[in-house]
Amino acid sequence: MSAKQVELVKKLLATLEKNYGRATALAGVPPLDQVVFHLIEAAAGKKAAESGVGRLRKVFVDWNEARVSSDREIAACLIDVRREERPAIAATVRAGLERLFEVRYREQFELVATAEDRENDVVLERLAELEGLDHGRAALVLHGIRPESCAFLPLAAIGRVLIRVGAVRKTTSLKAVVAAVNELVDTKDLGRLTYLLSRHGHDVCGVKSYFCTQCRAASFCSMGQRRVKISRAGRRRAVSAGAMSVGAERTFQAE
Ligand code: SF4
Repeated sequence: MSAKQVELVKKLLATLEKNYGRATALAGVPPLDQVVFHLIEAAAGKKAAESGVGRLRKVFVDWNEARVSSDREIAACLIDVRREERPAIAATVRAGLERLFEVRYREQFELVATAEDRENDVVLERLAELEGLDHGRAALVLHGIRPESCAFLPLAAIGRVLIRVGAVRKTTSLKAVVAAVNELVDTKDLGRLTYLLSRHGHDVCGVKSYFCTQCRAASFCSMGQRRVKISRAGRRRAVSAGAMSVGAERTFQAE
């Protein structure tokens, strides 16, 4: 990897962070703790999420008991969340737990810890179906339950954004993306990269729909620059075609 590519990724992460903010991975805790943490953190911030998860764990025997409790009991544990926001966040947490106790979710979690990398995207999509969990935070949950020996979680969205920006050469191999990412960022930045690129790859830089003209990274993204140029040229053509047809109408009226 060249120094230029490393700098490009640094710039990309800093730019996306201005847009999406920060989200922290919770390594070394069970998947359900992570999901509940992110459901609270997305709405009320890290401090509120840490104390919320801690208190919920103290008050309830386990997450199953929290699941069958009332929203009011959950809300009472969210002491660092603003009072008026507690009922909505408690309802999101309880609804999330309800779904996570479905067998298919538990199976999917087990899959990420043990399965082939190509299964990751399927699990991510399933997890991101939970209301209150964006694709970036869902990816962080999966990142957090990977064994430590597989430090980076390869996801299609991450590879896609890096290739489009021009930081990684075009490839269909997840192994090649993993190798490239490991050279491009420090291990301590893998969670940050996972969150930002998964979220961006879903919200703005999708497989078929990508919105380069609205993307903050467009000024230094190789594909974005091409697409923005094409879109401007298209607009200019449309404007001049409009001007010609107005001119033509005028000519017609004059005749
Ligand atoms: S400019 Fe376009 S291709 Fe580049 S990252 Fe943004 S949305 Fe993706």
